[in-house]
Amino acid sequence: MIVKTGKEEILTYLEDASNFREGSAERLYIPDDEGDLISILTDCAKNNIPVTISSGGTGTVGGRVPREGVILSMERFNRIINIDKNEKTSTLQAGVVIKDFLDLIEKEGLFYPPFPTERTAFIGGNVATNASGEYSFRFGPTRRYVKKIRMILTNGDTLEIKRGCLYEKNGVIDYGMFKVPLPSYRTPPVKCSAGYFSQEGMDGIDLIIGSEGTLGVITEVKVSLIDALPPRFIVIVFLRDEEGIPFIVKEIKKMCGDALFSLEFFDSGSLEFLKNDFPAIPENTCAIYVESVSNTEEMERWLDIAERYNAVDTWLAEDRKNYEKLIDFRHRLPENINAYFKKIGIVKVAMDIAVGEDSFPEMYGFYRDMMKKEKIHSILFGHIGENHLHFNLFPASDEEKIRAKEIYEICVRKAISLGGTVAAEHGIGKIKHKWLEIMYGREGLKEMAGIKKIFDPYCILGLDNIFPKALLK
Ligand SMILES: Cc1cc2nc3c(=O)[nH]c(=O)nc-3n(C[C@H](O)[C@H](O)[C@H](O)COP(=O)(O)OP(=O)(O)OC[C@H]3O[C@@H](n4cnc5c(N)ncnc54)[C@H](O)[C@@H]3O)c2cc1C
Repeated sequence: MIVKTGKEEILTYLEDASNFREGSAERLYIPDDEGDLISILTDCAKNNIPVTISSGGTGTVGGRVPREGVILSMERFNRIINIDKNEKTSTLQAGVVIKDFLDLIEKEGLFYPPFPTERTAFIGGNVATNASGEYSFRFGPTRRYVKKIRMILTNGDTLEIKRGCLYEKNGVIDYGMFKVPLPSYRTPPVKCSAGYFSQEGMDGIDLIIGSEGTLGVITEVKVSLIDALPPRFIVIVFLRDEEGIPFIVKEIKKMCGDALFSLEFFDSGSLEFLKNDFPAIPENTCAIYVESVSNTEEMERWLDIAERYNAVDTWLAEDRKNYEKLIDFRHRLPENINAYFKKIGIVKVAMDIAVGEDSFPEMYGFYRDMMKKEKIHSILFGHIGENHLHFNLFPASDEEKIRAKEIYEICVRKAISLGGTVAAEHGIGKIKHKWLEIMYGREGLKEMAGIKKIFDPYCILGLDNIFPKALLK
């Protein structure tokens, strides 16, 4: 085990991609194995020292950033334990970097669909945030692929949960070593990573997925895999008609059906963030980005779609080199935005709202009206195929910062009135408690705090993630 106490050595662990700046820790532990982990946790429990779990640090809500106590880095839990080609599963330690995993299974002709766009994330971080990725339109979030979790609790006990073995019954999930009440709120049936999962008859494993480092330390997971994807092309269609986008997207879904792997949107303001890297982007356009199974029929369909909606330009990438270039197009936007926020030194004002299919046109219209009405510069982009867009605001003054928060709240309330969620893929962390409280009420947050106390009676793990630590008193 490595232990570091020097300020400089710890510095990079005090941040993630959120630009949340309140990080502080007295010590960093890098355990080698579960034995180390158990001794760290039991010692911290005995001495009432807060522990924050750290993985790839790509989170966008300050989840791995501690306010106090010690950091527990999972970087040495980096072993892929097995790949079962027949069963199409893999068991791996929580600190495996997702890119390494994808590269390895590719050689076996296999694929793991729900990885997030940022591939330096760890699998444990993905499970803890219920991450979704570029293919979640087709394949869904991390939750759908987790078959088993091994976790160390703060009292040193090990909890192993297999999917399909324990379900909520009569309002209780019985984990054997303790019983957990089902919260009274329900996770909405949309893409969602907001707070502890809750559904009647739910599988006990689903409470752990998306629990953002508050219940225990995930050390090992077993995930299901699929066959390597068939050949695909990417097409980007540049359009003038930003108002008509929900209608166009609905049509595309109807026309292309199962051929689609991802369906994304970039408004004209988002494309401005990419113009340095991709100067050929046509002026005053928005873009639909699609990854599709590659065959003549689909290619022809896309040429028709481009014509039908009067595309200003269409970029098609079929060969490896151009395909990688357009993958980079998609990846570059969040990176450039994060770099911008870091440069101007403010916490991102970036929404992660999703709503249901039928409500999406109304939510989209709401954003568009807001963008026209308000002076603050803003952009809209993201996973339109899943009715999930990131509305980002760039306040340029203190006054605009205040207004940006008000706008955020107005959008949150609108989404909730439509049955949506305040966090579709990034989680709540330390910066979105207020929105979660609007979604589930104070009572909902208190119920989550009650569940946390059952798993972590010492109340030392992942403090201030999901809900304020004051609720643990
Ligand atoms: C450029 C960019 C693009 C992104 N694109 C996407 C995207 O497409 N989809 C998406 O969903 N997200 C995306 N993200 C966000 C991020 O990649 C995901 O949230 C990811 O799952 C975080 O994993 P991590 O290993 O970096 O976790 P960290 O940031 O280190 O931690 C995240 C949270 O998980 C907890 N945690 C970590 N490991 C464990 C463990 N072993 N046991 C228990 N708790 C643990 C931490 O305490 C923390 O609360 C993006 C981020 C960036 C910077």
